[in-house]
Amino acid sequence: MNIFRKIYKNLVVIGKPLVVHTEALAIDSVWEMAKKAALSGKVRKWYVMTPVNYDYSRVCLNLKLSKKRYSDLLKKRYLWLINHKQKLELHVHLNMIMNISYNEQEKLITESVQWMKKELNLNVKEFVPGWWMSNGDTLKILKKLKLRLVKFVDYRYMHDYEWISRQNSV
Ligand SMILES: [Zn+2]
Repeated sequence: MNIFRKIYKNLVVIGKPLVVHTEALAIDSVWEMAKKAALSGKVRKWYVMTPVNYDYSRVCLNLKLSKKRYSDLLKKRYLWLINHKQKLELHVHLNMIMNISYNEQEKLITESVQWMKKELNLNVKEFVPGWWMSNGDTLKILKKLKLRLVKFVDYRYMHDYEWISRQNSV
């Protein structure tokens, strides 16, 4: 993260409620921390990744599960969160430099919305793009799907993997 963003995040949004972007809840150690955080009542909202980002997860998490098993596992864990009064919205990683076509973006976002509906019976209303990267196409797609783009300054946030990555750094 850009150093100025980090300073801004710590100084200006420190009083705002904590929101977690999830990418790594398929990892058992991360999931254990997530459950604790959910039970602590300190998390206002979870922006969750769907199996639409399976390839991203496979590379970044060294995930060995098939897409089907990954989907089933996320479903089970997200339902646990929902059953413990947690609010879930959508997190989708598009592409860091946004050299992605309108159609590719639309497919990723639409399929994510559909997965949330089909597997969790949730109608998502908000969307946070990975790395805060979005463009004009993203806005058109979100308008079409009636989703609100959440901006960087809206809240204090962390990624779920930070619970573990901090422990693992030397
Ligand atoms: Zn992310």
